[in-house]
Amino acid sequence: MSPPQDLSRRQLLRRLALGASFTPFALMSLRQAFAAQPLLAVTAPEAKAVNYVEDAKSAKGAAAGDTCANCALYQGANGSLQGPCQLFKDKDVKAAGWCSSWAGQM
Ligand code: SF4
Repeated sequence: MSPPQDLSRRQLLRRLALGASFTPFALMSLRQAFAAQPLLAVTAPEAKAVNYVEDAKSAKGAAAGDTCANCALYQGANGSLQGPCQLFKDKDVKAAGWCSSWAGQM
């Protein structure tokens, strides 16, 4: 073993130790980022203002296939059942939902 390799091994071990010490914080942040928020109630005034429904099939005025999941304002992960919408702070909407502010993705 040559000294430069020992040095890089030490550096690697230090970095691994440092990374391991931050792992719980990183996991906590990830958990918070993906934690579901409370669902928007269809009876909430802000939901009623845009005719929000939890099932786009029951929406009057929704084009076939338009749902929150394919709306430009939806911020849920692909395949998620619910997720944040840029219209409603601190509330999730159903991916299968719809409202009159639906916007196509570019
Ligand atoms: Fe759903 Fe889009 Fe309306 Fe938000 S703006 S509730 S994602 S249709």
